[in-house]
Amino acid sequence: MKNNKLRKSLLTPPATLALFLIAWTATPLLAQDFDNIEITTIPVRDNIYMLQGSGGNIGVSIGDDGTLIVDDQFAPLTDKIEAAIAELTEMPVSFVVNSHFHYDHTDGNENFGRAGAYIVAQDNSRRRMESTQVLASGRVQERYDEVGLPKITFFDAMRFYFNGEPIDLVNTGNGHTDGDAQVYFREANVIHTGDMFVRYGLPFIDQANGGTMDGMIAALSNLAGLIDDNTLIIPGHGQVANRQDLLEFRDMLVVIRGELVRAKVQELSPEEMLATEPADGYAETNDNTNAWLLRAYDEYIR
Ligand SMILES: [Zn+2]
Repeated sequence: MKNNKLRKSLLTPPATLALFLIAWTATPLLAQDFDNIEITTIPVRDNIYMLQGSGGNIGVSIGDDGTLIVDDQFAPLTDKIEAAIAELTEMPVSFVVNSHFHYDHTDGNENFGRAGAYIVAQDNSRRRMESTQVLASGRVQERYDEVGLPKITFFDAMRFYFNGEPIDLVNTGNGHTDGDAQVYFREANVIHTGDMFVRYGLPFIDQANGGTMDGMIAALSNLAGLIDDNTLIIPGHGQVANRQDLLEFRDMLVVIRGELVRAKVQELSPEEMLATEPADGYAETNDNTNAWLLRAYDEYIR
């Protein structure tokens, strides 16, 4: 077994695997599936919190200026999310930052937009949300009404001065999608990475919407340079992490990319590439892993 050292820390715990399956199942979720979902509030540091329910982790900044959240999960959960925030602060949600356009991070946009929040995103994410998209997973994401679209967008970076600290929104090029935003709360030293960094094993890369493995690796290296060993990381999915976790995640992608490039140099067919088990030590060999590898390999051989 290759890469045995990292196997333990990177294998998927059952709870987050369930979350992943909920998020990426091809079957549309019914509203009633959310009835039993509870929102859990995790203090991260200072005035920054993480909310977990179903879908991507929500980052929350509370303070005198108002409430800023990063991502808003699924629309049927908006009331529960607002109730969880009300336990922390009386201030309304003034800003919703979308880490990227995927539905499990933005489905609450129309609700929060209607309630008066300004939605903020990287410009490509707004463009994706303006029309119906098909994800690399095959999932169809419908366009959002105007009220759910970002009113404020940025290209490479932008900064908020909010709740007593600079909050940087950063895009380092195509990675998980073509419109990713990482949100760095500088004073608290907390960063929300969106799905550029997740803790469920092999990360979903949305090649159908500008995502690339090389881009994710480059973005992760950039992030590693931006933060320090005391930074607390809110990942797109999974528990709070640190810089070392992020580096191990990046290194997993670097190792697998090396295997894929080796296969390409050897001019292996996709089937022959799969037979070399490039993700061995990081993921079980199964249909999901193979589909992931085929999409990633296609980035290098097309
Ligand atoms: Zn995503």
